[in-house]
Amino acid sequence: MSEFAFSCPSCGATLEIENRFSKVVMCVYCGQSSAISPAGLDPTGEKALLADSPSIFSIGASGSMVLASKGRLSFKVLGRLRYKYDGGFWDEWFLEFTDGQKLWLQEDEGEFTAFEKESLTSPLPPFEQISVGSVIPINGLSVFVTEKSTAVIAGGQGELLFKTTPGMSAKCVDGNAGGKLVSIEQTPEEICLSVGEEIDISSIQFA
Ligand SMILES: [Zn+2]
Repeated sequence: MSEFAFSCPSCGATLEIENRFSKVVMCVYCGQSSAISPAGLDPTGEKALLADSPSIFSIGASGSMVLASKGRLSFKVLGRLRYKYDGGFWDEWFLEFTDGQKLWLQEDEGEFTAFEKESLTSPLPPFEQISVGSVIPINGLSVFVTEKSTAVIAGGQGELLFKTTPGMSAKCVDGNAGGKLVSIEQTPEEICLSVGEEIDISSIQFA
């Protein structure tokens, strides 16, 4: 059962909010993003309905998957964000697990990586000074940089734990450190560090 239900301020559809810490909800019907407040929903940012793209995931779906570090966990899909960059796009699915843990599942050309947010314990080098092939220190890890891109949030669906709106730009750096995948995302709102692992797609089962 969901925690709250609100009406979309744009199309009037009922939007159920599962997580009481969610800050933004993006209407799956009309693409309106709205900030969540105790008083209701405030429309924010531009309306952006996602172009349909095939995925095994969808908002509200539940199932389980195996994380090498944690074993099999049951999840529910709460939200989705789409990032566009020069080379195309990727999606990030916001999953809540039955033990309360939250993960971002990155879907990029049929490959899935589960990312968990971590707090940054030291400042990052400026984005402009980070180059592919270099090693940068992050939270005591030596991260080998494999990708750097500037993306734009093209839209989303469902509820999200942080403030984001379509059209917002995100500076992204990907790398690895000692078998872990590391992702840094810098938006005008915040800098996020995430550490993750690849998911074997055959381990994903839907209820
Ligand atoms: Zn709507």
